[in-house]
Amino acid sequence: MTAHPHDFSTDDAAEAGSRRPYRLASREHKPTPTIVRVGDLAFGGKDVVLMAGPCAVESESQVRAVAARLSKLGIKMMRGGAVKPRTSPYAFQGLGVDGYRILKDAAGAHGMKIVSEVLSERHVEAAVEHVDLLQVGSRNMQNFALLRELSKVQRPVLLKRGMSATYDELLAAAEYLLAGGNPNVILCERGIRTFETATRNTLDIAAVPALHALSHLPVVVDPSHAAGRADLVPDLLRASIAAGADGILLEVHVHPEDALSDGAQAIVPTQLERMLPALSSIAQAIDRRLVPHAQAAELTHHV
Ligand code: PEP
Ligand code: MN
Repeated sequence: MTAHPHDFSTDDAAEAGSRRPYRLASREHKPTPTIVRVGDLAFGGKDVVLMAGPCAVESESQVRAVAARLSKLGIKMMRGGAVKPRTSPYAFQGLGVDGYRILKDAAGAHGMKIVSEVLSERHVEAAVEHVDLLQVGSRNMQNFALLRELSKVQRPVLLKRGMSATYDELLAAAEYLLAGGNPNVILCERGIRTFETATRNTLDIAAVPALHALSHLPVVVDPSHAAGRADLVPDLLRASIAAGADGILLEVHVHPEDALSDGAQAIVPTQLERMLPALSSIAQAIDRRLVPHAQAAELTHHV
């Protein structure tokens, strides 16, 4: 029987085992950057794609309101969790798979793509039907049954780093997707757990250049879950672009004080609007292009 090119053969395993627990995800295996496409958007090339939206899909009206504001700013991909991994079973768990449809309809009305989490194998089918970029959350980075299911779909996957996972463990998790036949993997640094308690997590900014050195896969940063505090998000966002992130996953809510989850770390659309020109300039300074690309004058014209 001829082996599928992505099958993790004994030779691959032996080679990987002798050095690293992954091979297909490595730079040695593929020296050129992988570009992961989601519709017209490309992660891993010159563009830095800004994805924004609420932590959770709470209601149709909440998602529609934020979608309208974000699309006016030129945002091309919206985030929002339908199935939420919450620390307490008593906390809001999300609207379930209905949330995928609500997010898709609200974003789609403005021509935006969506990124949303898949919490278990049971959601894969519904998610593939509605979601453009399938998110695997931190708590699920080593849910190997879920990774195996997602390796069989051709939809791109955003794989978030586990809160105490090393780069090798993150890349070994990505290897499950690649080895199973899904080459469209985007890595996401979202802060790790350290001794510091002033922030929700510690943003490991070194993860961006370090993962780029180890792997050909695009690397996105989520400054919101790293900070846990809206006041710190703008600086971490600017730093993430400067460090070479291929995209940003950002929590934005129209009324953070009423948010059903993660309100403390959500910024409002006007804050994002004020930041956009500087974010574009930072990207330009390192020969990248922010999507949306915004000059102060263009924005004033559109908003
Ligand atoms: C999220 O992006 O909504 C989320 C739950 O993030 P994380 O898995 O990084 O905690
Ligand atoms: Mn959140």
